[in-house]
Amino acid sequence: MGAPCDRCEELLQDFLDRTLSDDEWREAETHLSDCDYCRRRYRFEETLRRYVRTSSVERMPPGLLDKLAELRGLDATA
Ligand SMILES: [Zn+2]
Repeated sequence: MGAPCDRCEELLQDFLDRTLSDDEWREAETHLSDCDYCRRRYRFEETLRRYVRTSSVERMPPGLLDKLAELRGLDATA
């Protein structure tokens, strides 16, 4: 895994929460467009949040849970 992106970790959460200013939004979009790590995290977090919103976490597909465990594992070593 490449170097963790501390700055975009912050951006990503706000990006998902839709609480970014215009400048930050552009910064996040630009970063997501050329950072594989964050793009994958973004896609995953977005999917996860959709499940959480619809209260269907317990019915998450097994593959998604595996993916979650994998990502959390990566976070732990970052
Ligand atoms: Zn990044």
